[in-house]
Amino acid sequence: MNKGKLIVFSAPSGSGKTTIVKHLLGQEDLNLEFSISAASRAPRGEEVHGKDYYFISLEEFKKHIKAEDFLEWEEVYRDNFYGTLKSEIERIWALGKNVIFDIDVVGGLRIKHKFPEETLAVFVKPPSVDELKRRLKQRSTESEDKINMRIAKASVELATAPQFDTIIKNYDLDTAKEEAYQLVKEFVNK
Ligand code: 5GP
Repeated sequence: MNKGKLIVFSAPSGSGKTTIVKHLLGQEDLNLEFSISAASRAPRGEEVHGKDYYFISLEEFKKHIKAEDFLEWEEVYRDNFYGTLKSEIERIWALGKNVIFDIDVVGGLRIKHKFPEETLAVFVKPPSVDELKRRLKQRSTESEDKINMRIAKASVELATAPQFDTIIKNYDLDTAKEEAYQLVKEFVNK
């Protein structure tokens, strides 16, 4: 099978990476397909099974771990497992497309280490932890407890930024989208 490129976007929750990834998916010249992760959490808001995530039970998730079906997986928050199935990458490469990931920093770096040549690992940096808090509250899809859990994790995640190939500062969304587009375009055309 011909390997396509792997484009990883990682960042603390609320940094705007999902918005940037969605924007890139709309750019046909980049030939991207979204890597749908498996997740053990329940769908949020308008999320759809088989589009945003493969929503599976914790039990099913653990079976996949045992069967070594994952390229990487992580207990991102307590009892909330997320992972990239090997079959997902194969599915996308078989379509002749490049894979784009919206995953946490540990998973993102793991993919970079497994496929160093094929991967562009991008870290999306929010203006500040206070701004992250404001964005998460505005999104209001999570409880106060869950928001606090995400904020606590953000500082640890921010410290991993230098390990990525490149950092995009998301201070202004349109600027960040354009910067991401140019970076990915250059990488996929290499
Ligand atoms: P959320 O619950 O907000 O959708 O995602 C929580 C975190 O898990 C985000 O940082 C998201 O990028 C990350 N995530 C989503 N899918 C995966 C995956 O397959 N592997 C890893 N390691 N993290 C993931």
